[in-house]
Amino acid sequence: MTPLIFVTGGVVSSLGKGIAAASLASILETRGLKVTMMKLDPYINVDPGTMSPFQHGEVYVTDDGAETDLDLGHYERFVRTRLSRRNSVTTGRIYEAVIRKERRGDYLGATVQVIPHITDEIRRCIDEATEGYDVALVEIGGTVGDIESLPFLEAIRQIRAERGPEKALFMHLTLVPWIAAAGELKTKPTQHSVKELRSIGIQPDVLLCRSEQPLPDGERRKIALFTNVPERAVISVQDVDVLYKLPLELHAQGLDALVVDRLRLQPPRPADLHEWEAAVDATVNPVDEVTIAVVGKYVDHKDAYKSVGEALKHGGLRQRTRVNLKWLESQDMETAGAEALLADVDGILVPGGFGDRGFEGKVLTSKFAREHGIPYFGICYGMQAAVVDFARHRAGLEGANSTENDKQCPHPVIGLITEWRTSTGDVEKRDEKSDLGGTMRLGLQEQRLKPGTLARELYGKDVVAERHRHRYEFNNRYRTQLEDAGLVIAGKSMDDTLVEVVELPRDEHPWFLACQAHPEFLSTPREGHPLFVGFIRAAREKKAGGSLLKEARA
Ligand code: GLN
Repeated sequence: MTPLIFVTGGVVSSLGKGIAAASLASILETRGLKVTMMKLDPYINVDPGTMSPFQHGEVYVTDDGAETDLDLGHYERFVRTRLSRRNSVTTGRIYEAVIRKERRGDYLGATVQVIPHITDEIRRCIDEATEGYDVALVEIGGTVGDIESLPFLEAIRQIRAERGPEKALFMHLTLVPWIAAAGELKTKPTQHSVKELRSIGIQPDVLLCRSEQPLPDGERRKIALFTNVPERAVISVQDVDVLYKLPLELHAQGLDALVVDRLRLQPPRPADLHEWEAAVDATVNPVDEVTIAVVGKYVDHKDAYKSVGEALKHGGLRQRTRVNLKWLESQDMETAGAEALLADVDGILVPGGFGDRGFEGKVLTSKFAREHGIPYFGICYGMQAAVVDFARHRAGLEGANSTENDKQCPHPVIGLITEWRTSTGDVEKRDEKSDLGGTMRLGLQEQRLKPGTLARELYGKDVVAERHRHRYEFNNRYRTQLEDAGLVIAGKSMDDTLVEVVELPRDEHPWFLACQAHPEFLSTPREGHPLFVGFIRAAREKKAGGSLLKEARA
């Protein structure tokens, strides 16, 4: 039985439960424990794949192609364990499974109820995802008191009741607000939140108290007294300016020691946080700084591009460079013009997106970067926009578009595989694959890079794997025509049928690379991703007027 740490949240949402949990997981991992993480989301959607980015933020994708909550992104950026479909479970998925079993007659005529049938299914999912690890952190989405999260809380209550305190630990994240008018930190909301938890049979073992200021001893004592949590287990989680400080903070307050004690874990080593220290140091003491425009579709809701923002920062981290992000709505390019909005940036990234709103703005952005020698990094829809721009303005294919936006366009340079495959026999074999042909292509897939290209040089190998999430593809019918006009096809799927990476020739543009996959999902602060590292380096070179490049060559 894997010892489990359940993480719940109280008072308000958005306190950073996922990051706090991931930070603790990361410390435990450096102590030599095999750690995994899991998110239980109370909403009824089977997964967030169909939810609006405005409502839900980013849809994160795992190797096995699960569309998950963005917290899994935090987990994978902090912990080395690769996660899968099993690690992200929603109420919708639980009910779907239970109803399927009911229809199949698995319950032998019993009345199917929340307790025990729904809670049993939740427990089954927890066991499935955590089996074989030394310790697992299980985060319950939402805030205690939500109607939707009750079955999850009941399930974890049962687990603790059955397995005891050495196999299950409750960690509760709350808010200790600063009331400016009174000049005081207030502990009452935390007291109430714990009271609410206790009313459903959960006594927290550890409290993580989020506050703007460090928690003074008096408040800590007060919280301990009112909540029945030992003082040592009331941890202050103050706002941090740099995310990577959190593992250091939590370790300094003895959180990992406490957890190791309580769960009687046997970590082979003491914590080793030098990688996080290095990340903090590189962030706080940069030697350079660049401004990158991210021209997307949902930028008012920055969480929609969470991993892109993080990956850009990681790219900077690897070279001690602060990356300032300028978030721009691609639609604004159509009205204000690219020149007005992009003249002062060192690099331009156009990330993914769906639907026609703002697509023309992405095309204009790509055109601007191409014509002005500004480093350009296109991801997914950003790659498709680059291909459309190139087709229209370089290959003379007037009216070129993606069929996502114009089904009748004269030159569908991007289209569903089912729309263009007929004339290119070579992709016929793809038909059997269920993830293609109009449905989403999802998850980790390998691609082969062309020697001599920027992509090949940055990755440093011939074959790489990236995660995908898209329906439309580069239309092979236009391959030769676009190549003849100067587009470099730098990466293709292993069977040669799908275009994965396009570039401009390196003697024509300093750094212009666009890929169909989502490399941002594989970037971590400790390693960075080669494409993001290369992109930030190119932005620095652009800012230095090419002098860095000259220095490097000298
Ligand atoms: N809308 C495009 C497609 O479905 C791009 C998707 C994306 O950017 N994730 O192919």
